[in-house]
Amino acid sequence: MPFKSLNIIEPILKALHEEGYTTPTPIQMQAIPIVLQGKDLLGCAQTGTGKTAAFAVPILQLLLATKTNDKKRKVRSLIITPTRELAIQIGESFKAYGRHTGLKCTVIFGGVNQNPQTSALHTGVDILIATPGRLLDLMNQGHLTLQDVEIFVLDEADRMLDMGFIHDVKRIINALPKKRQSLFFSATMQPEIIKLAGTIVHNPAKVSVTPNSLTVDIIKQSVYFVDKGNKNALLLELLRDEVIKTALVFTRTKHGADKVVRILLKNHVKAEAIHGNKAQNARQKALSNFKAQTTRVLVATDIAARGIDVDDMEFVINFEIPNIPETYVHRIGRTGRAGAKGTAFSFCDAEEKEYLQDIEKLIAKKIPVVDNHPFPLIDHNPVKAPRQQQGRRNSGLTRSKLSENNKKKRWISNQKTSW
Ligand code: AMP
Repeated sequence: MPFKSLNIIEPILKALHEEGYTTPTPIQMQAIPIVLQGKDLLGCAQTGTGKTAAFAVPILQLLLATKTNDKKRKVRSLIITPTRELAIQIGESFKAYGRHTGLKCTVIFGGVNQNPQTSALHTGVDILIATPGRLLDLMNQGHLTLQDVEIFVLDEADRMLDMGFIHDVKRIINALPKKRQSLFFSATMQPEIIKLAGTIVHNPAKVSVTPNSLTVDIIKQSVYFVDKGNKNALLLELLRDEVIKTALVFTRTKHGADKVVRILLKNHVKAEAIHGNKAQNARQKALSNFKAQTTRVLVATDIAARGIDVDDMEFVINFEIPNIPETYVHRIGRTGRAGAKGTAFSFCDAEEKEYLQDIEKLIAKKIPVVDNHPFPLIDHNPVKAPRQQQGRRNSGLTRSKLSENNKKKRWISNQKTSW
């Protein structure tokens, strides 16, 4: 079933086509008609199922249909989400799907200077995507009001609660107009989530999809266990295969990206890096070289890779396993668009096994392991573990406690990442 049959208007259809989306995912198929009818929605779906477009597309369409000629734009739709990563991702999606609508969206989150965010707000925005703390902060400082919000989205409600944002969320809800459309999304629906939902949505239509409907299921995925020191050699080995005409390689840091590029160039593989330290025109140039296939390998950090839109790109290589599982889904989701083939290789060293487990939990399946490669992992439990790892070993923490601590740490690092 094509998007057109969901009565989506031309400017948005065009953008979806440009994104390489051919058919709506199950959550999109169910949710878009409901939201377009102006109904409240209770959605049980996780990242990776296409849930962002499931709310972003109809919101854009509804706002466009009732666009006013007011000189100053008002925040007519508010999306709150627990982490800056998700906020940025949602902002990118609104920008992509709404690129032909003339609607303006902005993203606000903590841990960075607020000035660019407040200037954006003062210039006027139609759609605001925010993490709760910074939103309340800017509201308290008088930089924005929520009184014109027509459509409110609470995204990842279960994580909001896990992260202790419940009071912030309640404060935000109290600042919203009573008459509004509300959409509530959570990956799980335990009783306390349902209780919270009851205070937000009224007579909601309910939709639910399982992790089995992840958009990345069509991508061929495999993992290589390899020692950290052998990752360069393994990358070179994989690139000996001429079937790989181009590949997008992900590293966690800018420094790491530059290092991989140096090694590749030294070994006569045409490669360029794309990350936050590069000037905009250098990034654009790297991207167009990659598109033209004069550069075979583009090495990117996650944040720089946002907005990279390359048709027919088949290969993504995770040189490092991302510590946020959703990032994996977004990385590999860059291939396999518009019915094209998609292949993702991930290099996992001993310290990254924990991240891999989190990813497999998110995507609800085991990623097949490639055993027969020349650089098998020897050091399964590195003796020279980083300090943080040693601390953990000595601390006698249980596995579940460890994983909880890990989540917290991940959240903190989320708040701190520079971009
Ligand atoms: P989300 O669950 O919204 O975070 O989306 C997960 C990934 O799926 C993102 O990389 C989206 O760009 C991609 N995606 C969303 N909808 C579609 C679609 N209909 N067809 C192909 N890819 C999609």
